[in-house]
Amino acid sequence: MADLEALLVVQEHDTALDRLRHRKATLPERAVLAGTKAELAEIATPLAEAEAIRNEGSRSIARLEHEVASAGDKATAIDKMMYSGTISSPRELQNMQAEIDQMRRHQKTLEDSELELLERQETLDADFGALDGRRSTAIATAAAAVVEIDSKVAEIDIEESAEMVARSAAAAVLTPELLALYDTCRERARGVGAARLLGQTCQGCMLTIPSTEVERIRRGGLDGAVEHCDNCGAILVPSV
Ligand SMILES: [Zn+2]
Repeated sequence: MADLEALLVVQEHDTALDRLRHRKATLPERAVLAGTKAELAEIATPLAEAEAIRNEGSRSIARLEHEVASAGDKATAIDKMMYSGTISSPRELQNMQAEIDQMRRHQKTLEDSELELLERQETLDADFGALDGRRSTAIATAAAAVVEIDSKVAEIDIEESAEMVARSAAAAVLTPELLALYDTCRERARGVGAARLLGQTCQGCMLTIPSTEVERIRRGGLDGAVEHCDNCGAILVPSV
């Protein structure tokens, strides 16, 4: 009988250990972390694309700026030459003026294109910024979740170690055979290896056992025999 009572103590510790391990595996922060990973995976491609388009836009603007400056420089250079006094041919001066006009018109066209690109660039920057913001938020959320998980796991580990020490102490009084039988039952019955028989009810599965059976189990249990619940297979421990 003492052995069977000790079995219930081992069962209590095992149940506590199961709960701790379950809590560790199902911390809400793990779902948060999984969510951020999914978010990062989801935005990776659109983010890379938005960044490439934005960078290409910046390069196009830089190219146009360079062309605008170059057209302006050319017009200024011709202008200087016209008024330097070295050219006297009216025809040549006329051609030069036409060239300046043409260069200024070209410059104006380039400037208009640049303006359009600059406006478009604002949208591209905003698109990229929105995705980049989502990435930063997801990374920060993930980092915070990891810190929380580590801290909670460390706390649970301490509780788990204490439970394991207590479990070993409780199990030490049992015969290896009974402990092995209990472990087998526990594996089969989803965590319940031993259960109190309270009245006619197995506290492992809450099944009501026929009264004649209960009597037999009670007598057997008091004689030190090991009886199982027909339903869950747990070793039944009758109340003294
Ligand atoms: Zn049962």
